[in-house]
Amino acid sequence: MKITNVDVSFEIAPPRARQIRDALQLLDGGGTVRVRIEAQDGLAGVVAGTSSTGFGRLRGAPAVLAQLIRDELVPEVLGEDPFLIRRIRDKLWRLTDYHGTTGLALLGISAIDIALWDLVGHALKQPVWRLLGAARDRMPAYAMVGWLNFSIEELKPIAEKAAEQGFKGVKMKVGCPTLEEDVARIGAVRSIIGADMKLMVDANQVFSLPEALIRGRVYQELGCFWFEEPLRADDHAGLAELADKLDIRIASGENDFGVRQFRDLFERRAVDIVQPDLRRAGGATECLDIAAMANAFDIAYASHGGGAHLHLLAAMPNAIYMESGYLPEGKKLVDGCIPLPEEPGFSQPKW
Ligand SMILES: [Mg+2]
Repeated sequence: MKITNVDVSFEIAPPRARQIRDALQLLDGGGTVRVRIEAQDGLAGVVAGTSSTGFGRLRGAPAVLAQLIRDELVPEVLGEDPFLIRRIRDKLWRLTDYHGTTGLALLGISAIDIALWDLVGHALKQPVWRLLGAARDRMPAYAMVGWLNFSIEELKPIAEKAAEQGFKGVKMKVGCPTLEEDVARIGAVRSIIGADMKLMVDANQVFSLPEALIRGRVYQELGCFWFEEPLRADDHAGLAELADKLDIRIASGENDFGVRQFRDLFERRAVDIVQPDLRRAGGATECLDIAAMANAFDIAYASHGGGAHLHLLAAMPNAIYMESGYLPEGKKLVDGCIPLPEEPGFSQPKW
C-alpha cells in the first residue's frame, strides 16, 4: 500500500459565546487543522485516514501549522507505506530537527501520525483499540467543567450536571488570587458532588514552588484527588520537589513534548499521574510509548482531552481516566465509563 495523496485544510473558529478562562489564559477560540491521508493498493482501492488538531486560542496558528504540514511534512510522506507508521514518524523527526522537533513541528508530526493510525484502522476495518491489543473494553472518564471565570453560583449546577451524566470525577480550575477563594469554590463543588465522587484541581502552571506547597497542603486536606500543573510544565526539578513534599498526587504532562521530555519527568519522579496531550506529545505512537515508559515507573496515565485518545487509553494498562467535557444532552455514562466504539479507525462513541 502506498500513500498517494495528503489534503491539509484549516478553519478559524468563531469567538466563543461564553468565554472560558483558566489561571494562565483566556481560551477564546482558535481553530482546527484537518489532515486527510489517502493510500491505494490494487485490491482495496483508496483508503483514507483523517486527523483534526484543535487550538483553544491563537487564531493565527491553524494557518501556520497547515503550511508547515503541507510544505515540510507532506512531501516526505507521499509514496510511503502507511503501515510503516514508526518509520514515517522517525523520518519526520529527523527532517524537522534543524528548527527543532518540538512545538508546532511536533503538532504537525502528530497530525500525520494520528491520520495514519486512522487509515490503518479503516484499511483493516477495525477500531484502533482492537489493533493495539486492549487492556479494557470501556474507559473511565471524568468531567473538566469548572472553569476559573465561572462564579460559585455557576459552578454548582455545572457540578450537578456532571454527576447526573454519570461522571464519578469532576475537575475544576484553581489559582484564584487568594487561597481562600480557591477553598470556597472547592467547598461549593464538593457540597454538590458529595464525598464519593473524585474532585481534581488544575492550576495551569501558575504557582511558584512555595505557593504550590502552601496551596497543595490545603487541597490535600480538602481531599482533592490530584493537583494538576502546579508549576511551569518544564520545571521538572520543582515538580519533583513538590511530589516529594506533598501527599496529594501531582499530575502534569499536557505541555510536555515528545518521549524524551517525558523520560526526564519520570526519571526525576516528578509526577504521580502523567497527562500527555495527543497533539503536543507527538501523536498516537508517541503516547503509546510514553504510557509504556510510565508503566515501568508505576506512574498512572490520564489523558489531556479525549477524542482519538480513547482508543489509546483502552490499550494502556496504567490508564486511569480520560478527560471529557459534558456528554450530549440526555446521555449518561455507565459505571462512570465510556464504551469503546466498534466502527473502524479512531471512531467515537455514538451517544
Ligand atoms: Mg490541565
